[in-house]
Amino acid sequence: MVMNEFEIFKSMINHSRNIVFFTGAGISVPSGIPDFRSADGLYNQKSKYTYSPEEIVSHTYYMNHKEDFYEFYKAKMVYPTAKPNLAHKYIASLENNKHVTVITQNIDGLHQEAGSSNVIELHGSVKRNYCEKCHAFYDDKFIMAQAGVPKCPKCGGDIKPDVVLYEESLDEENINNAIQAIMKADTLVVIGTSLVVYPAAGFIRYFKGNALICINKTKTSYDSMCDLVINDDIINVIKNIDEKGI
Ligand code: ZN
Repeated sequence: MVMNEFEIFKSMINHSRNIVFFTGAGISVPSGIPDFRSADGLYNQKSKYTYSPEEIVSHTYYMNHKEDFYEFYKAKMVYPTAKPNLAHKYIASLENNKHVTVITQNIDGLHQEAGSSNVIELHGSVKRNYCEKCHAFYDDKFIMAQAGVPKCPKCGGDIKPDVVLYEESLDEENINNAIQAIMKADTLVVIGTSLVVYPAAGFIRYFKGNALICINKTKTSYDSMCDLVINDDIINVIKNIDEKGI
């Protein structure tokens, strides 16, 4: 019998003991969270200049235009009512009988909400926000309820999201943990990222395991490296595999 791509995927997962899932924006799109990089440039009232999403979500922009930064951030990056979808839940369910590490470029916290306990958030999380002065912690709902730049009720300082902005460096411990996890994995599943966002592309080189699986709606430049490529919607992939017995 010839197996289709879904059956091959299921078989590869069944034969794995230590799996790393590397996820990007594509896994959260079905939860109603579009990739903020696809947003239209925001018109900056003060400078009369249109900035790209990447420019707005940069350290320089944050420091110089906090109010405009927060306008974009609240509109395009924080989705307090978004819920984990089938794919987040499927990954979490595998923890029942496998060692699972999730490395994500997403900042939405949906892997943890789905039940994954071992998540490395390379770019931080909108769920965590800190006062720049006294470092008091605030959640995303607090941020969304504030008009303009959120202020710390304790000391009046500006509150900054625990999100890695462009020009800011990634947490080194996170990077090391991610590389260690990939080096130890027997299966690496890349979902919903074209791997062009730093440092994703470099990570794949550390994988020495048996099966590299890439699931993305469209073709990517690393497809030729993969043992299995599925160019399909991740929800459709999960629906097509029988979750029982995995
Ligand atoms: Zn404070």
